[in-house]
Amino acid sequence: MTGDDTGIARDIAANFDDIRARIQKAAEKWQRDAAAVDLIAVSKRQPVELIEAALGYGHRHFGENRVQEAAGKWPALKQQFPDIELHLIGPLQTNKAKDAVALFDVIETVDRPKLARVLAREMAEAGRALPVYIQVNTGKEPQKAGVFPEDADAFITECRDNLGLDVVGLMCIPPVEEQPAPHFALLAKIAARNGLSRLSMGMSADFETAVQFGATSVRVGTALFGARDEL
Ligand SMILES: *Cc1c(COP(=O)(O)O)cnc(C)c1O
Repeated sequence: MTGDDTGIARDIAANFDDIRARIQKAAEKWQRDAAAVDLIAVSKRQPVELIEAALGYGHRHFGENRVQEAAGKWPALKQQFPDIELHLIGPLQTNKAKDAVALFDVIETVDRPKLARVLAREMAEAGRALPVYIQVNTGKEPQKAGVFPEDADAFITECRDNLGLDVVGLMCIPPVEEQPAPHFALLAKIAARNGLSRLSMGMSADFETAVQFGATSVRVGTALFGARDEL
């Protein structure tokens, strides 16, 4: 290792320790078990040296939002570290569903019937019945992916009972300009009434609030890795 690599490793380890400690503290405050909150390290548009540092630290659960970008960096890393769990957290086009099923271990962004049908078919073909989350557009933002809250129950039933997808939970991204708490509470309510136990919610700016409202995984990028490369 060069001196620089050691510095990167130290910084990344400190960041992971810090975020873990903050999850722990929030969990204690809200009388939850911190071990029930999975940290998904969002590595989109981050240099591979930082991802390698996180792997060196011992972290294994990562999130990426684009199939093509993820396909460029993760197959080699997955060969090296077979216990990596890679989450797709960005919108998925149906023409990339096959690649996504081959590369990812969890798909968090099932948001429309056509995608659900294509995923069910591709998973059956690949023999990979991946756990999936339904993305809910809790703020009903026109530019954002996700099923509207009032359509969620029917869509969950369609995915789970008709298509046989392994629906494990719900995911949301609250509107940036609003308090996240009501959105997290709404997601938790929809999950509870549908018998779903997992909630993927909370990012760098609001993961402690998400823990308060029952997040079972938080997706943290910049607080772990620093600012991302521009698009
Ligand atoms: C980029 C991204 C994150 C991480 O955001 P940060 O603010 O950097 O923590 C979380 N979830 C999704 C869906 C993302 O696209």
